[in-house]
Amino acid sequence: MNSQEIQQIKESICDIGRRIYMNHFVAANDGNISVKVSDNEFYCTPTGVSKGFMTPDMIIKVDGEGNKIEGNLNPSSEIKMHLRVYKERPDVKSVVHAHPPVATAFAVANIPLDDYILPEAILFLGPVPICDYGTPSTMEIPDSLAPYLQTNDAFLLKNHGALTVGNSLIKAYFNMESLEYYAKITLLTRLIGKKEEIPSDQLDKLVKLRKNFHVEGKHPGMVRYSDHSEDRSKEALADRITNAILRELDQ
Ligand SMILES: [Zn+2]
Repeated sequence: MNSQEIQQIKESICDIGRRIYMNHFVAANDGNISVKVSDNEFYCTPTGVSKGFMTPDMIIKVDGEGNKIEGNLNPSSEIKMHLRVYKERPDVKSVVHAHPPVATAFAVANIPLDDYILPEAILFLGPVPICDYGTPSTMEIPDSLAPYLQTNDAFLLKNHGALTVGNSLIKAYFNMESLEYYAKITLLTRLIGKKEEIPSDQLDKLVKLRKNFHVEGKHPGMVRYSDHSEDRSKEALADRITNAILRELDQ
């Protein structure tokens, strides 16, 4: 990778940082972004700096253990969750972590985003689970991602925020935008007090479209993360089992 390409990556990280800040997905110095350039080299945002005001010289390079290789500032302590993703998901080239308010409110309320209400959300994101609460900067947060890492590209972090991944920086960022948008529409429909979900035969068509559209990344299938164990219908349970079998067959 030549110096021009490295400079481009650093500038792209600053650009996405500004978008995250301007879109109010973070406050003050919150959030972090990383990009994988090789199996043991990652560019990431520094700690203690607003992601809306970064310049390329602030971007840090770390190895797979989170040790700083290059840079004047220090990497975020939350880099651990990024590195965990890269370790377990070789297809992921970028990770974005932010605290988008509406999605985070669902994470605080412990309500997963799994209303089947928008074709784009179903097609590109799929239902979004809530990972168990973990103390920031400890291994508790990376560990909390583990149950969903192989099936999802977007995660809510309980009482904390959100994490999205992608095979490029822009894809990881778009997943964050889509997640917050999906959360907003879910919130509004719940405020209106009425929602009509997309019928299950239409859902199958949407999931099949992923192949036609060459959508990359992981999709959990039509699962329900909400804990409606008492009133979960037999049909929904059958759907979960069918999807789990289909996923197994697909691998
Ligand atoms: Zn955070």
